[in-house]
Amino acid sequence: MTMGAFDQLMAFQRETEALAQISGRLGWDQETMMPRGAAEQRGEEMAAIEGVLHARRTDPRLAEWLDTAEAEDTVAAAQLRHIRRSYARATRIPAALAQRLARVTSTAQGIWAEARASEKVADFLPTLAEVIELKREEAAALAQGGDLYDALMDDYEPGATAASIGAMFDRMRPRLVRLRAALLEQAPPPKLDHHFGQEAQMRFSRDLAAVFGYDFLRGRLDLAVHPFSSGAGTDVRITTRVVETDPFNCFYSTIHEVGHACYEQGIDPDYLLTPLGGGVSMGVHESQSRIYENQIGRSPAFTGWMFRQMLDRFGDFGVASPEEFARIVNRVQPGFIRTEADEVHYNLHVMMRFDLERALIKGDLAVADLEAAWNDRFEADFGVAVDRPAHGLLQDVHWSCGLFGYFPTYTLGNVYAGCLHQALRADLPDLDDQLSRGDTSAATGWLREKVQRHGGLHEPRAVITLACGMEPSEAPLLDYLDAKFGALYGL
Ligand code: ZN
Repeated sequence: MTMGAFDQLMAFQRETEALAQISGRLGWDQETMMPRGAAEQRGEEMAAIEGVLHARRTDPRLAEWLDTAEAEDTVAAAQLRHIRRSYARATRIPAALAQRLARVTSTAQGIWAEARASEKVADFLPTLAEVIELKREEAAALAQGGDLYDALMDDYEPGATAASIGAMFDRMRPRLVRLRAALLEQAPPPKLDHHFGQEAQMRFSRDLAAVFGYDFLRGRLDLAVHPFSSGAGTDVRITTRVVETDPFNCFYSTIHEVGHACYEQGIDPDYLLTPLGGGVSMGVHESQSRIYENQIGRSPAFTGWMFRQMLDRFGDFGVASPEEFARIVNRVQPGFIRTEADEVHYNLHVMMRFDLERALIKGDLAVADLEAAWNDRFEADFGVAVDRPAHGLLQDVHWSCGLFGYFPTYTLGNVYAGCLHQALRADLPDLDDQLSRGDTSAATGWLREKVQRHGGLHEPRAVITLACGMEPSEAPLLDYLDAKFGALYGL
């Protein structure tokens, strides 16, 4: 018996997925284990495998199989939907353009890093202008007459539109600015003044990962400059970093990445090495990392348990009570850097990047005017002037990599986490009792059942709607922030 078109397609796809995992593991190795002298060879190795992947993703046989393959059930239909979307995107971008983009963005990252180190915006702008021009070309090829920014965002958050996200951000901004102003009028919590050794931090990090359900049999935790999670299925690895004066940097980076990793580890094993075998979008992915990190990990119930753990492990570190500890963990303070921002400020950082990059892609903002636009907007939203470019528009790597349309998925993830948290609390009324004992199993089990196991089965918004019984909305997140920080700061 010969194989039907669907089975042939899935067999071909399985090999593509396996090769993509290999490519991802090369990336993991580069950030954790690779000897420094191997960088150039590694670049060639990764380019070679990218070439193989591109050829497979645009293989003309895919079109034939997609024409005749029939889906017998909803799972098969979802598989076909993913392959069709990926094939359409890959074939719409001319090969010459894809190559130019790959070349320019790989050198742009180096130029950005040097410009950031020397604080010279002018050194980066010509390359950035080139990246934006190519991304506009790519967007036009993908959009086929539609909105350019939407076409780019579709890579990270299928189905999302800039118009609806922009409207949502406009509704969120006044409430966040109001909450921020009220909190900053209160006395700030004390600063930690203690040394927390690297080994003890890593030991607690491993224990925290296990507490949140991360499976070390199918994963590992290592150090890297920038924490990340990588891989899918039975090999999902995470990294964290250690700052010996600030243990929360390590602990919450770990919990954040554990959220991403548990999403991948929690997917139905039947979907292994298929298009359904990965997180469905960046927004839904970020909802998992954020709810692990913030709504669960920074809840006063859970930090009460963490406080006792840290006393056992580090001795007296100068914090008087679990209440004071909760305020320190949830410190609200204005800062220049997005990745260091607290829950209240974080979304304001994202919103300004979203508006600026939308204008860049639309052609409404010239690269020459970008620094002034950034600095003006920052001062309007945060009440302080940017003191140097590394604290301003040179802080993020995204634009140099061509990642336009990615930033809004961070706030979308927070919004989704807000919705999930509201539904989770309604289903688990004694959640705080469990968290105060360091037991997250009911919460993470709920997330696995409602979100993680589905992988790519449903569209991103549908995942949240099905899990929460309501359409995604920003209201639960804003209500949660008002209630939590109002109580912590005695508003
Ligand atoms: Zn994340």
